Amino acid sequence: MFYFVVILIIIKHYKIYFYKKEYVNMDPWSSDNIDDDDIDRIIKEFGIEVVSESVRQKFISNRFFRRKIIFGHRSLDDIIKAIESDKHWAVMSGIKPSGPFHLGTLTTALEIVEFQKMGAKAYYCIADIESWEDNGIPYEEAEESAVDNLADILALGLDPKKSYIWRQSKEPIVKNVCFKVGRLLTQNMVNAIYGEKPFGLYLAALIQVGDIVLPQLMDGPQPTVVPVGIDQDPHIRLTRDLTRRYYKEKMEGKKIVEPAFFLPGATYHRLLPGLDGTDKMSKRNPNSYFTFNEPIESITKKVRGALTGGRRNKKEQQELGGEPQKCMIYKILMYHFEDDDEKLAENFEQCVKGELLCGECKKNAVEKVVSFIEAHEEKKEKLVDKARKILNIE
Ligand code: SF4
Repeated sequence: MFYFVVILIIIKHYKIYFYKKEYVNMDPWSSDNIDDDDIDRIIKEFGIEVVSESVRQKFISNRFFRRKIIFGHRSLDDIIKAIESDKHWAVMSGIKPSGPFHLGTLTTALEIVEFQKMGAKAYYCIADIESWEDNGIPYEEAEESAVDNLADILALGLDPKKSYIWRQSKEPIVKNVCFKVGRLLTQNMVNAIYGEKPFGLYLAALIQVGDIVLPQLMDGPQPTVVPVGIDQDPHIRLTRDLTRRYYKEKMEGKKIVEPAFFLPGATYHRLLPGLDGTDKMSKRNPNSYFTFNEPIESITKKVRGALTGGRRNKKEQQELGGEPQKCMIYKILMYHFEDDDEKLAENFEQCVKGELLCGECKKNAVEKVVSFIEAHEEKKEKLVDKARKILNIE
């Protein structure tokens, strides 16, 4: 009997291990979320650096570092050195023009704006090749979403004068890189990084390598940070691996004084789960997120219906306190809609002590979200023509 129990425990343990192991094979095109346990495993398995307190202090003006939403990085030291010695550095990001801007895309968009405010030149790509390969949207059909998405990011504060903005389908640099580094890619590598996928997605991944190195090809060697959700790390690993080998091959035997190329860096943020408590915001589940083009009534309804960390009734809430760490209302305020750190900390404390009730808290969150969206729409309206002009779309 004893041995039987031991064997059962071993099987259970290894089943969990194998399950987790599979899960760690991240799929940047899937809608699965990655929870905190997986994050710890990913950090160890793929060598992501944890943001130390001293690094956090260097970026303390950036809300995503201050609130520990960004938890990991690669090569941020190069960026810190560039900032401290007043040298050029870049932030690179982009959007897949497959629909309207939504709550899930807001984090990366605001991160690029924050890095630009800290002194980076921003490089922003409209990933229309990826929207074709992943969603089957032809380039011409993606144009309206591209204009709409770009107007959104301009309204969020991206300064076009300190940016370079391109469409993948129109940018020869990214296509050339795809061919140049493609010769270093083997079937085994793509299988190990992405698993088995349609070939077009591998091509889209190679185009993304081009997007990420474009700042250095266009404006010379400079450290580059790519702010991403943790689920996008496979693209970062692929880029670093291919570019490291490409430049090593190219520079073989040459005497190099200055760095000829900086390995692209990245920051990693925790992903926001679905508003309704499901794993991830997904188009397949419209209650899990809201778009910026949605009617205010619909946004209000979704925020009101969000999963909270509240107790079953008022009495229990007052006795036991709420669980803000599990609450989507608290999370969306922390990520995006509460600017005041003190107010956010106060909310957390009052919730835990049972002094704040979910009804009142949701009402406050709805007001904040609605006023953010209304102000955003007003700014955006004036920027649509500018977006059209930048993208050269009539
Ligand atoms: S009081 Fe607010 S933060 Fe606390 S669980 Fe309820 S909605 Fe969430």
